[in-house]
Amino acid sequence: MRSEFLPFSTPTLEDAEINEVVDSLRSGWITTGPKVKRFEEAFRAYVGAPFAVSLSSATAGLHLTLLALKIQEGDEIITTPMTFASTVSMIVLCGGRPVLVDIEPGTLNIDAAKIREKITSRTKAIIPVHFAGQSCDMDPIFALAKEFNLTVIEDAAHAAGTEYKGRRIGSLDSISIFSFHPNKNITTGEGGMVCTPDETLAEEVSLLKFHGMNREAWKRFAASGTPNYDIVLPGFKYNMMDIQAALGIHQLPKLDDFINKRQVIAEFYNRELVDIPELALPVYAPYEQRHAWHLYTPLVRIEKLSIDRDQFMAELKGENIGTGLHYKAIHHHAWYRENLPQADGSLPNADYASDRILSLPLFPKMTLEDAGDVVSAVKTIIARNRK
Ligand SMILES: *Cc1c(COP(=O)(O)O)cnc(C)c1O
Repeated sequence: MRSEFLPFSTPTLEDAEINEVVDSLRSGWITTGPKVKRFEEAFRAYVGAPFAVSLSSATAGLHLTLLALKIQEGDEIITTPMTFASTVSMIVLCGGRPVLVDIEPGTLNIDAAKIREKITSRTKAIIPVHFAGQSCDMDPIFALAKEFNLTVIEDAAHAAGTEYKGRRIGSLDSISIFSFHPNKNITTGEGGMVCTPDETLAEEVSLLKFHGMNREAWKRFAASGTPNYDIVLPGFKYNMMDIQAALGIHQLPKLDDFINKRQVIAEFYNRELVDIPELALPVYAPYEQRHAWHLYTPLVRIEKLSIDRDQFMAELKGENIGTGLHYKAIHHHAWYRENLPQADGSLPNADYASDRILSLPLFPKMTLEDAGDVVSAVKTIIARNRK
């Protein structure tokens, strides 16, 4: 057994990030300012989006995007049950009704072929989530959006660096929302970005994210600015700080290298775990895409074991291996069981994955030796609990 605990994820932060934060602290300007502008521009250029608006989180980005689209009481938004709570909770908090479509059993992405039957006259948008960093099949989703006049909002929290048929996520004709939470492929501590070709949407999100103030606040205090401002609508406080962007400025140039390192570990897992019948390993989508390997999420075939998934995770912890849970399906959570009940068995693939999924350690600083320890621990636990 490993002597040292291996976490499920940890960010790679080096001297460049640390020095840039210190520079901000010493400069006297720590909140939204020139470094946020630099990071926004660099990220916009990297993904290939006409507009990019930074925020305090991806959750904030989802919230403001739905508000900017004027989602209201009774509007239906189609999304996947296999996502983080905020994707669905933001729909609820805007007064909309989440409509859940089952996932594909292999990629665990929303099953594009099952979306049409859930579209009604009240449907306003589709929110696909690029699960684990692998692109959803966007062509059929865009075709439906065109046919029924729906907005496509990509939850790209896992998908910084993901590509679909040669195009980067963030550059498609949609709104895509990225997260820079410390577990994500690059981090700003907390942070998010809304990318879109729609200038009006980008402007609306920019206004809503900072009190509805009609100009860049940080310039008010610069020599060229004036302290006066106008509130053109009631807004939120969802801005990214310069000390956050200071991290992003140095994380972004490393993103492709981070993804390559993640891929090496993921493919090692794929090779080393392939012959274990008690596991169902992640599956590559059949279309051309680049997987950003945000997560490595095998399903544990609990029907072949005498323990459930939670016990499996506890036993891994006993072997000094950390895990994550992405995700218990949203309709299995208390509030949603009560308020958005799904007819029993109506989302069979999500139900199956929800009880069996776990995230094995995957982060750029991991070594193949670390990954070997994970494989050994997984094999030990399966051997110990085989039915
Ligand atoms: C992390 C995550 C979010 C929320 O991102 P924050 O930046 O933490 O608000 C939303 N959706 C998915 C799929 C995520 O993984």
